[in-house]
Amino acid sequence: MKTFACGDIIPGCGATFTAPDVQGILVQTRRHAVEGHGMAEPGTVSDEPVLAHVRDAA
Ligand SMILES: [Zn+2]
Repeated sequence: MKTFACGDIIPGCGATFTAPDVQGILVQTRRHAVEGHGMAEPGTVSDEPVLAHVRDAA
């Protein structure tokens, strides 16, 4: 399992994401980037910083 905490790249955001693999994380974080942080569709601009902070879930 993989996990990502949005607060790692956007201070103050409490959103966290868990998925079986990195692709599953990106599906969620792209949506969150657009809907939660006003990034341009389709939110893929967030992929690089997200990938840098994805962790293995315990
Ligand atoms: Zn966020």
